[in-house]
Amino acid sequence: MDVLRDAARRHGLWNALLPLERTGVTLRQRELAPLVEVTGRSPFLASDALNLATPDAENIKLLDACGTATQQNRWLDPLLDGTIRSSYCMTEPGVAGSDPDAMRTVIDIGDGTVTLNGAKHWCTGAASPDCRLLVVVAASDPDAARGARHTICLVPAQAPGVTISGGHTVFGYHDGHRGGRPTITFHDVTLPVDSILGHAGEGLGLAQRLLGPARLHHCMRLVGTAERALELLCARARERTIGWRRLADDGTVQDRIAEARIRIEHLRALVHHTADLIDAGDTDAARRQISVLKASAPLAVEWICDQAIQVHGADGLSHELPLAMLWTYARTLRFSDGPDEAHRRSVARTELRGPAVG
Ligand SMILES: Cc1cc2nc3c(=O)[nH]c(=O)nc-3n(C[C@H](O)[C@H](O)[C@H](O)COP(=O)(O)OP(=O)(O)OC[C@H]3O[C@@H](n4cnc5c(N)ncnc54)[C@H](O)[C@@H]3O)c2cc1C
Repeated sequence: MDVLRDAARRHGLWNALLPLERTGVTLRQRELAPLVEVTGRSPFLASDALNLATPDAENIKLLDACGTATQQNRWLDPLLDGTIRSSYCMTEPGVAGSDPDAMRTVIDIGDGTVTLNGAKHWCTGAASPDCRLLVVVAASDPDAARGARHTICLVPAQAPGVTISGGHTVFGYHDGHRGGRPTITFHDVTLPVDSILGHAGEGLGLAQRLLGPARLHHCMRLVGTAERALELLCARARERTIGWRRLADDGTVQDRIAEARIRIEHLRALVHHTADLIDAGDTDAARRQISVLKASAPLAVEWICDQAIQVHGADGLSHELPLAMLWTYARTLRFSDGPDEAHRRSVARTELRGPAVG
């Protein structure tokens, strides 16, 4: 990874896909689409190499948009330099991650200090030896109006009372050098009140503001993932002979290839359309399209990777080829940043709010 990061810096690619005031990068979503797509060919290596890895990229954007000068100097600059890593801590053991009102981790906001108690799990990046920052979403006022019950707190990973342990694997994958997705407990973690990001009560709003583009970027990457899987499928079909003919000459295989290409083109067109909507500032339409994308893209790409695995026979399941990893990546995104069902429900609700017929 260090070699790749050095190469990215030399070629001017480090932070080049992070449009921020701080970086001076001004690319629009539609301009980012083909670039982020390429990183999806090797989703874990490429993102890390360019400083685009989840959740660092999202935390960087949060700090850029909402951090105070002090918070930015302390956390944003080293994250942009790549000298520290971070984690985003929202999901909790024992309760539904899809339901923020079920959250049990509490932040007690006092006079000059805040105190955190609770537990989070599946915290990507927190087990990295370089992780210094935990961006924690916690319940601050359960009686407030919906959308005003949570607060984001910037917690030093080494603060007294923070314990990081274990690490979930995903189908046996450990998330490379980042060490899996650990559980974190917060026991009377006391910090200065200026550890709050933005204002108390606006945590979910801040998170949602950034989640939309983050979800779109997942889907941009998935186009690249699908392209790579289809390339591997075609290469194997051309080269493998069974009996007297190549797999490429088999009608079933050709049909899989055609279906994969059709799904990729639909997906790419939808990604570009959604990027255009965001660039045009059409927030409502963009939100709907992001749900359509997020509910359909991982499933489509999971299917394409699965077809590629099938054509490769047992080799397709092995870790010598990237297909199992690509399939896992697509499968994972059917939960991360909201499960399929939540996005489908959101699409249906928008549809039902539409103009009545007759
Ligand atoms: C690889 C990976 C990395 C992750 N990284 C992080 C991280 O860095 N930080 C973090 O905080 N979390 C992380 N997560 C956790 C992830 O955000 C949650 O898994 C996700 O929010 C779903 O929460 P849950 O697992 O508790 O499932 P639940 O909320 O219990 O949902 C279980 C199932 O219920 C159904 N369901 C849920 N909501 C609805 C709905 N609205 N309508 C209909 N059906 C529904 C779906 O079938 C869903 O799959 C990660 C997860 C994975 C797999």
